[in-house]
Amino acid sequence: MQVVDHIPVEYDEEELWRELHVETLKEKKKEIASLIEESRKLIKPKAVYTYLEVVRIEGDSIRLESGDLLNGVILADMLRCGQKVAPYVATIGSKLEDRASELAGDNVLLAFFLDKIGNYALEIAKENIRSLVEKTLGGKVSNFGPGEGTGKLFGIEQQAVLFQILQPHNSIGVQLTPSYLMIPKKSESGVFAVTDEEYVACQYCPKKCEDRASAFRGEYRPRRISH
Ligand code: SF4
Repeated sequence: MQVVDHIPVEYDEEELWRELHVETLKEKKKEIASLIEESRKLIKPKAVYTYLEVVRIEGDSIRLESGDLLNGVILADMLRCGQKVAPYVATIGSKLEDRASELAGDNVLLAFFLDKIGNYALEIAKENIRSLVEKTLGGKVSNFGPGEGTGKLFGIEQQAVLFQILQPHNSIGVQLTPSYLMIPKKSESGVFAVTDEEYVACQYCPKKCEDRASAFRGEYRPRRISH
């Protein structure tokens, strides 16, 4: 089990400002700049992850060497027996979301921006872990997140399996609620795995969404390759 207690998170300020979409809010720029500064002290990026071999794929079920069973159309279709995958949970801790809730009482707009800055920081933390995994697995990985998109390809209930494997409450303080949400909320979980073709959940998600990373291609059609 790999535990990273201090993931270095460096903001690319230009990219962050672009993601905040503040073009029409020029008068708020100073306040948002000071929120960005404040956020640096509020985030505590940490992660836990491990490497496990896929030992069997049957239907939509993937048996891992630990004995755990993951279920998901997309995993069963894109993974192969014998390959290593990396389940992970990453978080930036609870301080930023606590501060955003406090701000929301006085200024909903600033609370909204602080929340978005938190999403950005969490994404960088996750990408840092992705790079570590790619070095170990020797190739570019896809990210499979439980419940992403419509949730049809890899269901949210699969969080329970990831938490069973990683026990992140012990190492990085992330808990799972009975409805499979993570606390702190600014946490992300998933499985990194090398795939023939990159999987991006947005490609199969029809939702109208400003965070879309890739154009909608339509329903996912399983290839049912032989494993
Ligand atoms: S389009 Fe939006 S909701 Fe759908 S998977 Fe992408 S980020 Fe998630």
